[in-house]
Amino acid sequence: METKKETRQFNTEVQQILKLIINSLYSNRDIFLRELISNASDAIDKLRFKSQTEPEILGDDTEFRIRITADPEKKTLEISDNGIGMSYDEVAENIGTIAKSGTAAFMQAMEHAKSQDTLTPELIGQFGVGFYSAFMVAEKITLITRAAGEEKGVKWESAGDGSYTIEETEKKSRGTDIILKLKEKEEGDSDYTREWTIRGIIKQHSDFVAYPIIMEVEKEEPIPEAEQLRDKDGKPMGETTRKVRQDETLNSMKAIWTRNKNDVSEDEYKEFYKHISHDWNDPLTQIHMKLEGVTEYDALLYIPSQAPFDLFFPERKHGIRLYCKRVFIMEDCRELLPEYLRFVKGVVDAPDLNLNVSREILQQDRLVRNIRKNLVKKLLDLFKGMDAEQYDKFYTEFGQVLKEGIHTDWENKDKISDLIQYKSTKSGDKYVRLKDYVSNMKPDQKEIYFITGDNLSMLMNSPHLEALKDKDYEVLLMTDPVDEWVAQSLTEYDGKKLKSAEKGDLELDEKDKDKKDDEKYKALFSHIKSALDEKIKEVKASSHLKASVACLSGSDYDMSAYMEKLLKASGGSVPDAKRVLELNTAHPVIEKINALYEKDRNDASIKDYSQLLLDMAIISEGGKIDNPARFNKMVGDLMGKAIS
Ligand code: ADP
Repeated sequence: METKKETRQFNTEVQQILKLIINSLYSNRDIFLRELISNASDAIDKLRFKSQTEPEILGDDTEFRIRITADPEKKTLEISDNGIGMSYDEVAENIGTIAKSGTAAFMQAMEHAKSQDTLTPELIGQFGVGFYSAFMVAEKITLITRAAGEEKGVKWESAGDGSYTIEETEKKSRGTDIILKLKEKEEGDSDYTREWTIRGIIKQHSDFVAYPIIMEVEKEEPIPEAEQLRDKDGKPMGETTRKVRQDETLNSMKAIWTRNKNDVSEDEYKEFYKHISHDWNDPLTQIHMKLEGVTEYDALLYIPSQAPFDLFFPERKHGIRLYCKRVFIMEDCRELLPEYLRFVKGVVDAPDLNLNVSREILQQDRLVRNIRKNLVKKLLDLFKGMDAEQYDKFYTEFGQVLKEGIHTDWENKDKISDLIQYKSTKSGDKYVRLKDYVSNMKPDQKEIYFITGDNLSMLMNSPHLEALKDKDYEVLLMTDPVDEWVAQSLTEYDGKKLKSAEKGDLELDEKDKDKKDDEKYKALFSHIKSALDEKIKEVKASSHLKASVACLSGSDYDMSAYMEKLLKASGGSVPDAKRVLELNTAHPVIEKINALYEKDRNDASIKDYSQLLLDMAIISEGGKIDNPARFNKMVGDLMGKAIS
């Protein structure tokens, strides 16, 4: 059945990206070729992976290659591969929409950057807009592809102006041809149909691509003597050489990870990173290792310099590619690294691997398990060895993910807890590690104090910290959602207990221990509790407060306020846990309310004051009170009275 030619609109994100690419990216157009070659190389990798279980899909087209064809007259450049190709639906899905998770977040960040005038190619590059980057140089792109195992091909075409056409077509062989109709050159632009331009870009950006990148080039060859024109003395009368066109492989295909560390330049490491990661930015650092012995492998792992937008989307790909003796086995090999290191990109080459591995077998494979263990160790050591500046950069991007390991990797929990760091009530805008926290503890301080919440300045000013600040104890300010889990799993560090500053009593003083204020105000507290319609679990004298009158806290085993907020935000149904209303019995207002109460137990204003105390406690932790209008009126009335 023939399908008709359809015209479709790009989805909104693609339209925005195209606009950005065409209007804002001028600086390094050359990289479009790297992007298309990386896609071609990925397509061959995928085919190769599939052919391990379905060898018949290769047919007799088994010489994998990427071919570049330039036509200076027609101003076209074609990049063609004999990889896995795409079906009709795949073309529509992959080239025309952006299926990536995190796209919406990314577009938001872009809009923001645009409004702040900080939109840089790095930002776009981080997202890896790959294929679309060709619109930097092309006025029209035609993609003709045939999926492995299918009879018909698909033709896709677009001028990058909001729509594209797609139709069925004939294509002789498997794979994808991408034909760029190049834009009119302006002063100073490179000519992408010139052999040496293409050679240069490939040498710089794609030299280590594992498949030959072939181009037909013009060469001079000597004319055989028998064919040469000669005079009667045997002297050549015409040309002795002639121009011929010949295929040449433009890349060296050297697998960078098998080379000796000292023979690989920083630039080569960077380019290889960009090729495998589809990130346009340089990596933060890399680690290149060769392990010999029982578990033998080569690995080249990179830490990106920026977290990708989809770091927290479960469907995102992992960054490890598995090879066996330089032969590609699979991408996205999640068996080789735990989830909390999912931001690491790179290559692992394990020569002793069973070549018929499937993902299922991989998990059980002893060799794979050993490599994984080893890689984790090396990576944790790498993080540990970073200088403070580099580590802070790393931690700002990936700390949140690394911390998941405290909860999930019991074996390495200690090592990871040495790596985590927080801002604190004393650190200013620096981070402190737990080790430093402990060494800075006051002589009488027994526990490591922390508080969780989503906003540093609010935590910093939380009334829960008043008594601790008074003691000059440092408090860690934990602001990542994952910290709630860290706090649950990391109950101790270096023999010191971690203690939430907003849960349970602090027991900083003898006074806190004997609870005599609770006795003194027993009747008032229970009156306040019932005046608040039992919305709170308990009213008690606070061990946290010094200046403020009221705050809310939880029992030691209660959920923190932040945890509750997080669970609610993620749509979970959270039973409204009742909190404890803590009152500062050293504050004159409590004494005054108590006097009022003792004079007349039924004084109606006590109910109002109770409500006000609760509202103040809620506001001070950044919560929402149920009746802001009432709060407003009550405070207004009080101010009126106070001022007169
Ligand atoms: P990315 O490569 O970062 O995923 P691209 O926009 O470059 O993003 O490509 C989108 C998708 O289109 C790829 O993930 C791949 O599935 C498909 N694709 C691109 N080029 C090719 C190709 N030469 N052969 C087969 N599929 C391709």
